[in-house]
Amino acid sequence: MLKSKKLFMLALTAILSIILLAACGTKKNEEGSTSGSGGGDSSGSQTSSNALEAIKERDKLVVGVKFDTKLFGLKNPSSGEVEGFDIDIAKQLAKSILGDESKIELVEVTSKTRMPLLNKGDIDMIVATMTITEERKKEVDFTDVYFEAGQSLLVKKGSPIQSIEDLNSKTTVLAVKGSTSTDNIREKAPEAPVLEFENYAEAFTALKAGQGDTLTTDNSILLGMASEDNNYELVGGTFTDEPYGIAVKKGETELLDALNAALKELHESGEFDNIYNNWFD
Ligand code: GLU
Repeated sequence: MLKSKKLFMLALTAILSIILLAACGTKKNEEGSTSGSGGGDSSGSQTSSNALEAIKERDKLVVGVKFDTKLFGLKNPSSGEVEGFDIDIAKQLAKSILGDESKIELVEVTSKTRMPLLNKGDIDMIVATMTITEERKKEVDFTDVYFEAGQSLLVKKGSPIQSIEDLNSKTTVLAVKGSTSTDNIREKAPEAPVLEFENYAEAFTALKAGQGDTLTTDNSILLGMASEDNNYELVGGTFTDEPYGIAVKKGETELLDALNAALKELHESGEFDNIYNNWFD
């Protein structure tokens, strides 16, 4: 009698352990497969079949933008607001998709972090001085071009560097990780050592501290830096084409179509020109 009770208890423990293990397994699976609907908000059921639907269900657009790039996306330290051309465009996209430009959450990205954050599902899209390239098209989809820039050089006034031809093994070039600028400069001035930074604020600080002879990226971004400190100027014109696009996760056709339609409407209504002139005139 005692023996069978012991056996029964053993069997019960075994069954309970199996149930517990199975439960843990399911939990782990759920965690491992959070398919990104954007916003890093994995709470609630994910019934939406595509990114556009998920945005509408959430009633908020989660956009990856720069926080340190004057004229495009810069966090104003006194107000805490992020301001710039990319920000104004992103707000108009929120207005077009959700009917209200304040239905937006701005998430900081850098050139290096933007594609991983998008593909992880932390953001719905990237509006962050991002050039459309064939290489990037393998990982994300782009809208139509919404801004045209070109790579240039920023130097301290009076610098012997006046164009890309002046770069050589003795001139250090400062650039930002994950940008097209680093690849382009290595291709076009292969002799020149390149020092890479996490973001544009760090790179400009390094230039001012004399850690390099020139900073290279898009003329549009360098113009913002030159306007901040008039000891610095752009030289040598542009030596690449940098057409900016808004990036979404690959295969999100509905979202991409909605964004292209919104951009078209912004051009037709004149709102795009208003925003452009507000930042670049
Ligand atoms: N437009 C270039 C790029 O997409 C440089 C600016 C940036 O780093 O965002 O890489």
